[in-house]
Amino acid sequence: MILAKPERKSFKGIAIAGIPDKRFDVEIRSGRFVSVREADAAAAAGAAAQAGAATQAGAAAQGEEAESAGSSDPAAEIVDGSELWITPGLIDLHTHMAWTDFDHADQDKRDPAEVEAMQARAFEATLRTGVTTVRDAGGLTPAAAAHLVREYRQPLRIDNGSHMFGAADARGADYLKRKADEVFASGANWIKIMATGGLGAPTESVTDPVFTEDEFAFLVRYAHENGRKVFVHAWGGAAIDWSARAGVQSIEHGMFLTADQAARLAEANVAFVPTASIYRIAADPQGVLGLPPVIRDRAARAVEAHANAVAYAKRAGVRIGFGTDYATPHLHGRNLQELYTLLDYGLNREEAWIAATSDAARILGRSGELGSIAEGYLSDAVIFGSDPYAARSEAELRGSIAAVITGTDESELA
Ligand SMILES: [Zn+2]
Repeated sequence: MILAKPERKSFKGIAIAGIPDKRFDVEIRSGRFVSVREADAAAAAGAAAQAGAATQAGAAAQGEEAESAGSSDPAAEIVDGSELWITPGLIDLHTHMAWTDFDHADQDKRDPAEVEAMQARAFEATLRTGVTTVRDAGGLTPAAAAHLVREYRQPLRIDNGSHMFGAADARGADYLKRKADEVFASGANWIKIMATGGLGAPTESVTDPVFTEDEFAFLVRYAHENGRKVFVHAWGGAAIDWSARAGVQSIEHGMFLTADQAARLAEANVAFVPTASIYRIAADPQGVLGLPPVIRDRAARAVEAHANAVAYAKRAGVRIGFGTDYATPHLHGRNLQELYTLLDYGLNREEAWIAATSDAARILGRSGELGSIAEGYLSDAVIFGSDPYAARSEAELRGSIAAVITGTDESELA
């Protein structure tokens, strides 16, 4: 159930995940949290009874069966939250919402109408799993995003990288300036730089930079001068040091990050978005991507290194962000898998959720309005029927989602 920008909604005595032994009254008006207050037990019980009475009266007035809208139904205006948990809506800092196939050539073989329908399903699956904001890491133009949000009524909030600056753009500063101007004109608010190879490159050379440092530094500076933020695909190597020196917002993947580099990222306030789960999926011979052995081997090398990279970042105090790099129908909607990979790689439960909520909002530069259940914030939230911090798997966590709430509706997003 996706509830876009509720006009009025109250959760009485709901638990905020990660805050044990306390219950809260949470009020939403016009897509914002207007009040988040601790509920005392007696008041919570009274409010729950009142909520029941209000719901029954409402149902009776409409001539419906009272049982059709119990007060614990998240769709009700006043909800008994005594058996519900709330978290902020999750923020996925690295998705490819427009992609439908691992290999781009396979997407080109599809009928455009089929591609669009698949993209709309990806938007819906992403929202249904509790991800209310994404940063698209390439392939989705702002115009295409707006079209999908509006036509398919999917209120997903999207930051756009749009074009991926890569090896084909390594043609000097004048060329980069012209190309960046085009990307700015498209409305993209991020510049995405592919600074090293990826699964397509042999392991020996995957960390070789594809730009000169002058080109790289120019592009970052030019983006910043024009009010855009910068995120950098870098598996490792010199591009990570350049990113620290240039002061980009985040590096992505970074599995060959060293302990020294982690310290430099922390000092430069550059965040790290490991996108850890996708490499495990890519390495798995039985995985949904079904990749050839040579690619699976490269992914396996990445997996071996990734846990160390995350540990170095955590120890150095680098801000870690949640991102999936998901790009196919089997993966969109399974975003919560990344939480469990981050846990396997050494984050604790609270750190993994912070990476997906408040720290992700900080990386987006929107920490004053996204990523927290707090007064004045947009009401992006996920309602769970059991404690999300106790869920042992992605399937269990996803299965316990009772509703997803957004603070903005599609008319404001597109
Ligand atoms: Zn990506």
